[in-house]
Amino acid sequence: MENCIFCKIVAGEIPSQKVYEDDTILAFKDIDPKAPVHTIVIPKAHIASLNEVDGDNLKDIAHLISKIPQIAKEQGVDASGYRVVNNIGRDGGQTVAHIHFHILGGRALQWPPG
Ligand code: C5P
Repeated sequence: MENCIFCKIVAGEIPSQKVYEDDTILAFKDIDPKAPVHTIVIPKAHIASLNEVDGDNLKDIAHLISKIPQIAKEQGVDASGYRVVNNIGRDGGQTVAHIHFHILGGRALQWPPG
């Protein structure tokens, strides 16, 4: 989608530090990490948010979620634990309108979030 930062990362128009890629998903290091491990996982196809997940694109999201433990393991946080975050809309703190899942770890995370 035009003007979508994450679509531009998928297209290689904006650089990213990729940590995992296959036909339908991409994972890269967050440009502004909030923890020692902060990885963003996205579907390559543009989906604005979890609100737009439907029967047509659910397969990509299911695949993405199934790969999170592998990506977390490759980032070295599987044993210590980690958090997966999906922000939705303004009050949810979503700043990029292309669905993405944060993998956060490498330190003890606080709860609840602010
Ligand atoms: O959930 P939210 O929309 O706030 O998260 C977007 C994330 O994408 C932020 O953590 C931001 O640092 C990251 N980002 C990135 N590379 C970019 C633009 C944003 O890693 N080029």
